[in-house]
Amino acid sequence: MLEDAAPCPLCGSCDQNSFPIYYLFNQKRFEGKQCERCGFIFIAPRPTQNELALMYSDEYFLHDGADFGAHAQHDYETAAIRGSVKFPAILGAIRAVKPNGKFFEIGCGMGYFLNFVREQGYSVSGIEYSALGTKMCREKFGLDVVQSSFEDFSAPPESYDVIFMGDVLEHLVEPLAMLQKARTLLKPSGVVALEVPATFNSIVGRVAVAALAALGKARKLPMPPYHVNEFMPATLRAMILKAGFANANIIQRIKPPNNITLRGTAVEKLIKHSLQYPNYALTKAFGILGDRLLGLGVK
Ligand SMILES: [Zn+2]
Repeated sequence: MLEDAAPCPLCGSCDQNSFPIYYLFNQKRFEGKQCERCGFIFIAPRPTQNELALMYSDEYFLHDGADFGAHAQHDYETAAIRGSVKFPAILGAIRAVKPNGKFFEIGCGMGYFLNFVREQGYSVSGIEYSALGTKMCREKFGLDVVQSSFEDFSAPPESYDVIFMGDVLEHLVEPLAMLQKARTLLKPSGVVALEVPATFNSIVGRVAVAALAALGKARKLPMPPYHVNEFMPATLRAMILKAGFANANIIQRIKPPNNITLRGTAVEKLIKHSLQYPNYALTKAFGILGDRLLGLGVK
């Protein structure tokens, strides 16, 4: 195996093709890969614990030009409030399978979603990696939240009816192991719910990858390798099943065209904007080509 290689985080295969994205972080290049066997898209090498700590330190997380455009607490709050438009759709899908019980959120950020879930009648608790988020969850909403990574967290088996991760799984170096851990913490017939971005499942993402591959180029992504995994509907489903869940249901959504983040040159922005309208219509009508996925697995 080459020094920068890593086995596929989904199936363990070392046979992989390059995928035309990369990150530069701390003078190190992290390459996009796609598994030849299962199609999973990921970044190799995997960041080390030291690199992850640096990546998520305030210095990098809040620097100018961070992907979120978040430079201070109020920016995170603004983003959290803007994100609340999708709360009813996400909880509605969970409620259809598990209408009440103990709801645990991994990575609850500023607590807006967990507070919404509590208002809908669930008994809620959670963990949050950042000190700032944990403080907000407790002080603003009085939520039962502890500061911890999911790797370091422990609870008795079969503690929860629902475990939710919103925009978390794409950041985890060992996503499959974390899903297996989530499964042990769920009661029988408990539900895991995973909300992830799916950039390369949208029309824009597919066109961009095809164009880059045809040109033999790779696109440098403008931030540290926060996303070490990139999900497609098939690979999210496969990971839920491989973690031992009895079934997996993938729901696709898409951001409205007037609500997307536009990066790149003026021409790229124009292309992106014009493709988002037909994409929006197709996702709405047929549940395909979404840029957001909600994966549900039942224990
Ligand atoms: Zn694989």
